[in-house]
Amino acid sequence: MASQSKVALKNLRIWNGIDDAIDSGVDTVMFENGDLTFVGSSEDLLKESVSVARDMGGLYMIPGLIDAHVHLCLDPHIKNPLEQGKLTDGEQFQKIADRARAMLAAGITSARDLGGGRWLELKIRDRIRRGELVGPRLLCAGQPITTPSGHCHFWGGEASDSADAIKVLTRQLDHGVDLIKVMATGGNITPGSKPVDAQFDQETLSIIVGEAHKQGLRVAAHCHGTAGISNAAAAGISTIEHCSWVGRDGWAKGFDPEVLASITSQGIWVSPTINSGWKRFMGSNEYADLLGQNYARMREGGVKLIASTDAGIPNVLHHDLPAALPVFAKIAGLKVIETLRSATSDCAEAIGLGGISGQISEGYSADFVLFEEDPTSNLELLVKPVQVYKQGKPALAV
Ligand SMILES: [Zn+2]
Repeated sequence: MASQSKVALKNLRIWNGIDDAIDSGVDTVMFENGDLTFVGSSEDLLKESVSVARDMGGLYMIPGLIDAHVHLCLDPHIKNPLEQGKLTDGEQFQKIADRARAMLAAGITSARDLGGGRWLELKIRDRIRRGELVGPRLLCAGQPITTPSGHCHFWGGEASDSADAIKVLTRQLDHGVDLIKVMATGGNITPGSKPVDAQFDQETLSIIVGEAHKQGLRVAAHCHGTAGISNAAAAGISTIEHCSWVGRDGWAKGFDPEVLASITSQGIWVSPTINSGWKRFMGSNEYADLLGQNYARMREGGVKLIASTDAGIPNVLHHDLPAALPVFAKIAGLKVIETLRSATSDCAEAIGLGGISGQISEGYSADFVLFEEDPTSNLELLVKPVQVYKQGKPALAV
């Protein structure tokens, strides 16, 4: 007898997360125990034993979306970061659980959480893993390493030198983080912190990266100013967050081709945290022009971009990614398929989920989103999923 867990979905139009277009010869997937065991044509599937087969009526399927930069602990409706986190652990836990549920319903099946103060998002991560809560697969950084009074110091990761930084790192390890986050420059949301300024020198960052690698963890670096981007790239971090090229003359005015060459030659990924609110930067003004120029130079230099939103910062909802992707495409000058790869297969590879999610291929987790219309022809359609599957389980009520 066929196992009841072998579910086949037929009559689909599938974009696999990699190819330049939908392959018309592939219309069927099958999964078992949460993993894809067959991706191919329905004729070939006849040879397999299937317990449940559903006709999907020609729906479009793409891999589940991945957001490389979110903060589950932040309430996007609160402007002042010092006003954040005043809830009890129990209240905050419930808020994070609600945000995680909304993310999955929007088609985000994996996300990387780049910082919080109380490790509550790690508890949510574990409960999602155990099937007790509904939400994306989460990778969590815990408390970012920062300087005394530096960017997001209120999360508790302050370190005045490399010995201190290793202590903060070890504390994150003790809490079971998946990666390390370091604040290589100041940031916007922290009073007294300047985005243009580097917070750590290259040597300190290299020590942090060396220790993280020894523990088998990647490092994501928050970088607005060019000096900090340069330090982080030289230290060999895995992903540069924001990469705003802030110079002494202002935002986006510090582009440096040598720093870009250092990024690209090492294969470092750039995660520019472009959310749907960046629509305000589009159009003809000086900042829009500078952004456009910088992305053109980065693309020409062969930069590898991944999708991210910084969800949780003021006005950026946790499930913003599908609405953010068309804006990301326009600002960064990406084609539709390049944008979709940045939020699926490329993002998975960049954050350590390569081989697990981000593709509709045999052996991968059955994480995918279904649409009535073709999102590979129009990114605006991403906000209208008709169903989301994570590990073979539908997330939306049918
Ligand atoms: Zn952030």
